[in-house]
Amino acid sequence: MAKTLLKGGRVVDPGNAIDRVADVLVVDGKVVQLGQAIDPGEADVIDVTGKVVAPGLVDIHCHLRDPGFPEREDFQSGTRAAARGGFTTLIAMPNTSPVCDNIIVTEYVLSKSKRVGIVNVLPYGAITMGQQGQELTPFVDLVAAGCVAFSDDGQPVMNSGLMRQALIQAKAINKVLAVHCEDKPITGEGVINDGEVSRRLGIKGIPYTSEAVMVGRDILLAEEVSGQVHICHVGCARSVELIRSGRQRGIAVSGEVIPHYLNTTDENMVTMEGRFKIKPPFGSKCDQEALKQGLVDGTIEVIATDHAPYTVAEKKRDFLREAPFGLIGLEAALGVVLTEMVHSGLLSLSDTLAKMTSNPARLLRLNKGTLGIGQDADIVIIDLDQEWQVKASENESRCRNCPQDGRWLKGKAVLTMVGGRVVMKDDKILI
Ligand SMILES: [Zn+2]
Repeated sequence: MAKTLLKGGRVVDPGNAIDRVADVLVVDGKVVQLGQAIDPGEADVIDVTGKVVAPGLVDIHCHLRDPGFPEREDFQSGTRAAARGGFTTLIAMPNTSPVCDNIIVTEYVLSKSKRVGIVNVLPYGAITMGQQGQELTPFVDLVAAGCVAFSDDGQPVMNSGLMRQALIQAKAINKVLAVHCEDKPITGEGVINDGEVSRRLGIKGIPYTSEAVMVGRDILLAEEVSGQVHICHVGCARSVELIRSGRQRGIAVSGEVIPHYLNTTDENMVTMEGRFKIKPPFGSKCDQEALKQGLVDGTIEVIATDHAPYTVAEKKRDFLREAPFGLIGLEAALGVVLTEMVHSGLLSLSDTLAKMTSNPARLLRLNKGTLGIGQDADIVIIDLDQEWQVKASENESRCRNCPQDGRWLKGKAVLTMVGGRVVMKDDKILI
């Protein structure tokens, strides 16, 4: 029997409302005991005094690029990046090549990630075939194969009738649709947030309505058919308001915030670097405040990374026309969130970690994200006070398109355990 005792840490397990100093005993990959002064017996003892012991982070929005784009990322590099960041479960978006809209790709993602990955990977199925927005995928078959939810992320389902039908079908099997809200004709040729900064720089802007119109539409559709919709990467204040009012009406709508939006605004776009180019675009300071307020008042339940690797060459293309939209985030996410939400005093550690553990797991009906007895021993040890500088060149991810590069953050994952096995310690991958 493999036994490990995590000794003397501050256990923060939001899903079970635990926040106290305790030992955690792990046996054969499961959490078996949590309490004071547990007898270690034969166990390997890891002294975590002064550190936080939390459920491994669950990221319900990342792009691992396999199959199809190994130059950007694959299951090995992507899960190593995850382990560095304290993530133990990733839900991979289906915009691969081929798209995860069939059983073969679903099984490929599950089996290959298990073989070469070092954290858990579960797939999203696409909402529409080829993410083309024309025809729904076979939801029932995809769930049977192992898809845990559905998304066309990267592409909006522009056809409202089809989106309505998707909500009805997902409801019938108790699954969630995670939606990329963007009205493409409104986005047009826009590159950054439409506002004072875009006008100053003379760059075509993306009006906030590009996102908010679709957020509003999807909330209305979810209300009418009693479906459930999760809004990916909420970017603007108006969307936060729409989600808040939808929830107040009892509609099953949730939203997620991407950490980068907590410390980056359209003011950062003045350098016109590819590593800040993202959809939805970084908004104004007011948008940023609204996102933080949404996290504080519970309107936004989930923090996800939208880790979206693009190669250096891709990101070096012409900023205004050719450089793709998307940024990496697995390795810096926790540091950004702790710095902006916890150390700033905006939100408690437990409420913050809930948005990266138990809340996303509950949303997608995953048996993850807590340290309950009998649960998989997916655990992160956090040094809350470690100040560290992000160096994208040292990332495990294959790509470098990180807006945090060079910034100092406070708080870091120092050990990641997956199924009882330590996979990362002090920034080193151990397997
Ligand atoms: Zn998206």
